[in-house]
Amino acid sequence: MAQKYLIETFGCQMNVHDSERMAGLLEQAGYESTDEAADADVVVINTCSVRDRAEGQLYTRLGELRQMASELGTDPTVVVAGCVAQQEGEAIVKRSPGVADVIVGTQAIRRLPMLVAEAAGRRPVIDLNPYDDVTWPLGVTRRNDPIKAYVTIIEGCNEFCSFCVVPYTRGHERMRPKADIVAEVRDAASQGTREIQLLGQIVNHYDAPDDPGCDFVGLLEAVHEVDGIERIRFASPHPRHFDRRFLEAMKRLPKICRHLHLPVQSGSTRVLDAMRRRYTRESYLDLVAAIRETLPDVALSTDMIVGFPGERASDFDETLTLTSQVRYHSMFSFKYSPRPNTLAIKRLPDDVPEEEKTRRIIALQALQREIQTMLNEALVGTTLEVLVDAASRRRETELSGRASTNVVVNLPGPASWIGRTLPVRIERAGPHSVWGQALSVQPPAIS
Ligand code: SF4
Repeated sequence: MAQKYLIETFGCQMNVHDSERMAGLLEQAGYESTDEAADADVVVINTCSVRDRAEGQLYTRLGELRQMASELGTDPTVVVAGCVAQQEGEAIVKRSPGVADVIVGTQAIRRLPMLVAEAAGRRPVIDLNPYDDVTWPLGVTRRNDPIKAYVTIIEGCNEFCSFCVVPYTRGHERMRPKADIVAEVRDAASQGTREIQLLGQIVNHYDAPDDPGCDFVGLLEAVHEVDGIERIRFASPHPRHFDRRFLEAMKRLPKICRHLHLPVQSGSTRVLDAMRRRYTRESYLDLVAAIRETLPDVALSTDMIVGFPGERASDFDETLTLTSQVRYHSMFSFKYSPRPNTLAIKRLPDDVPEEEKTRRIIALQALQREIQTMLNEALVGTTLEVLVDAASRRRETELSGRASTNVVVNLPGPASWIGRTLPVRIERAGPHSVWGQALSVQPPAIS
């Protein structure tokens, strides 16, 4: 009987995609997937270290696995992968002795089956080596989603924003060859993928190593030509790498979704400077104005940190006024927490009291909720083209999907609509999604 594996994923889209790659590698090595840790011969915990809470989740989970194995009398191979593995390495083994058998760094995941095999003879096995090769063989990735596919275009980051752990955990910026990316997009399209999500820490910094002069615009044009792909998304562009040519390309290429994630992090130039973001409040707002002028139908989302070292009440007020001015369709907001190795932890005291950070995040999230509700209510009575991608988590009879702007749309309908793009008349709105009815749905064509 085949051995079984389970992968538990914390963190960002990049981690979700790494898990798809690790699943494919394990299946190539003869493993089958299971949803139950108790049945698994190999349990992979793919970790995130962007927030300290995610690290805590790892140690809680390792404790649970130790208890489960002792109660069942089993001995699964436990693998810790992802950013915490890269950052903590052997310290994970010391903190949870006898539980973590394999520690695999972010650049070593392609060696996962070999490391698991090695762990049968000696434990722990640790590989945190930097492997610069970012090519990836076709057909390995086991995608979770039949409709949407993640495709990595850049690994690592060279920006070294002072709060961010990514350059230390994912290494320096490495561009994936354009030919490799386009081949993966074609392969995904041939398997029925409708939407491509290009991933990289700074996608608009792309510079093809195999096609001199081809930047992110050139890559978008190449992906746009792939038959069968209906929508293209990407995450995330960096505000300081935008240019007019990119905005014109978004306008010109209809498959590119009308959504831009534009991480700002703070509304105060003083704080942005301490964060080493290399743009100002004013230049960011100029960029937003240029986007709105060229692409008036584009929805914006962002990331925001409150309580960064040295953030005064007046700086936070600037975050609130910027939020009101830009009117983001969605926002990921966090209280600052010092991360290992970063410039901020070395040089900037974490001097905003916890209760003040909490007060600020509550105020920011309340404002954002108000804005989102208003933007969603303005959609009532309009018709959106919705790519139906799942049964809704709320009710079995409901489907959900996304408009090009990334707004989540819920609608009643049969499961056979999943994977289709339908016009949906919006009838009702909430802060996080809207509800509507599909218009004039034709049965699927029989080929
Ligand atoms: Fe981190 Fe800054 Fe790089 Fe984004 S751009 S991954 S925040 S260092």
